[in-house]
Amino acid sequence: MKKYLVAAMILTLLALSLGGCAQAPGAGEVKGTAEELTTDIVVIGAGGAGLSAAVTAKNAGAEVIVLEKMAVIGGNTLRATGGLNAAGTKYQAAAGIKDSPDVHYADTMKGGKNENNPELLRTLVDNANNALEWLNSMGANLVHVVIAGGSTNPRTHAPEGGAAVGPVIVKTLEKAAKEQGIQILTDTKATEILTDGNGSVTGVKAISKDKGELVIKAKAVIVATGGFGADPEMVAQYNPALKGFDTTNHPGATGDGIKMAMAIGAATVQMENIQTHPTVVPKRGIMITEAVRGTGAILVNHKGERFINELETRDVVSKAILNQEKGTAFLLFDQGVRDNLKAIEEYAKLKLLVEANTLGELAEKLGIPAETLEATVKRYNELVAAGKDSDFGRQHLQRKLEKAPFYAVEVTPAVHHTMGGLAINTKAEVLNKDGKPIPGLYAAGEVTGGIHGANRLGGNAVADIVVFGRIAGQQAAEFVKSK
Ligand SMILES: Cc1cc2nc3c(=O)[nH]c(=O)nc-3n(C[C@H](O)[C@H](O)[C@H](O)COP(=O)(O)OP(=O)(O)OC[C@H]3O[C@@H](n4cnc5c(N)ncnc54)[C@H](O)[C@@H]3O)c2cc1C
Repeated sequence: MKKYLVAAMILTLLALSLGGCAQAPGAGEVKGTAEELTTDIVVIGAGGAGLSAAVTAKNAGAEVIVLEKMAVIGGNTLRATGGLNAAGTKYQAAAGIKDSPDVHYADTMKGGKNENNPELLRTLVDNANNALEWLNSMGANLVHVVIAGGSTNPRTHAPEGGAAVGPVIVKTLEKAAKEQGIQILTDTKATEILTDGNGSVTGVKAISKDKGELVIKAKAVIVATGGFGADPEMVAQYNPALKGFDTTNHPGATGDGIKMAMAIGAATVQMENIQTHPTVVPKRGIMITEAVRGTGAILVNHKGERFINELETRDVVSKAILNQEKGTAFLLFDQGVRDNLKAIEEYAKLKLLVEANTLGELAEKLGIPAETLEATVKRYNELVAAGKDSDFGRQHLQRKLEKAPFYAVEVTPAVHHTMGGLAINTKAEVLNKDGKPIPGLYAAGEVTGGIHGANRLGGNAVADIVVFGRIAGQQAAEFVKSK
């Protein structure tokens, strides 16, 4: 019902905005001549980066239209579960966690195999706390802190109780956008970025499901179309080793913004850097958030044995799982973990969890040796008691696995994040092949490349989209004023 109301509102807004330049077409009107809209800034993509940019630009005084090709907004942001990384926050301090942007920087650089763009990364870690506070000032309430793989300290911020982060962020930003009167045109796919004879951006061409072709004239364009993890051909083109892999991504993550910006001379960086997420339900593409391991879960193989530090970076854990029999493993936890992470309730609702009252019974259901599994968990609990994982070097041993019922999910790696993308600078300006900004063109979020290097740390993408979304919005608004 709500969606119908939203769709009706959008059509009304579109009709109103057409007032000065053209009549809103009625049903059945001849298509073929493009309708024309005019605004200051067009944002392509209504995920976390696009909405952060739109809200910021509007706050800075610019008129904004957001285009979203899918019927619903949110993109991959809507799927984000674990949280947002920020260091030195008041929520960490309240939990007694000492952390700093410098440690966040060092962890991210190490996780990214030193391939990260240092200036972009510095911008990310120095602004993540502000981004978190900005979202919380609008009611997001990201106060629950967990640890994600590759982080020295817990710094991944989620809603209270550890609920999924993405839906909360999208809802918060959508509310802010609506309150500001920002137009979000769903079912409207941008197809081309328009330029004048000198290479400056002048707007966007789009196809609307209802209206046909649209031309939106603007002084600046912000590309926030997300990554290309759901385009298997593009994934295989840039990284042939990932041919045939499943994906965790929403179907709209097909690299449109990269292609459109490349067509007007934008440079790309590190397109081959594509991440697999290690814990994805085989054939269903449903990702089990890293926060489950961060709250205490372990990984065991088909022999019932641990085989890796579960909080290693995603590339390392993915590789280790692929090296096990069948290329899968079991994510194993107890009621104690479930009690401390609300996100697990969604997996229970989706009936992804194999549940049993004893480890022996669980092993039987999984078809793995009961004695080995019992011995593995006994050993792990001893390591937790000793406070040191002398077997695999896991740094954070949150809790013993001893509270029935016990749970398991079979997991395997799937394409998750495209770290490569459009080349930008710290002002979120898109760069051409000579390293010069393309006048009026900005980009933020997963469509950009270089921030995460060879391997993204869990929680850093959500920080990235808000930090750079806000920068893109602010910079584009200033650019518009200067015109
Ligand atoms: C299952 C899952 C869980 C994740 N969990 C986390 C997490 O906990 N923490 C974390 O840091 N990261 C997480 N990530 C990664 C993170 O969610 C994404 O990298 C991030 O949300 C991308 O945001 P974005 O705004 O750049 O793109 P998106 O959120 O994907 O938004 C892009 C939007 O642009 C639209 N679009 C694309 N092309 C066009 C076009 N031509 N015209 C108009 N619109 C277009 C898309 O439909 C989409 O709505 C997760 C990713 C997935 C898939």
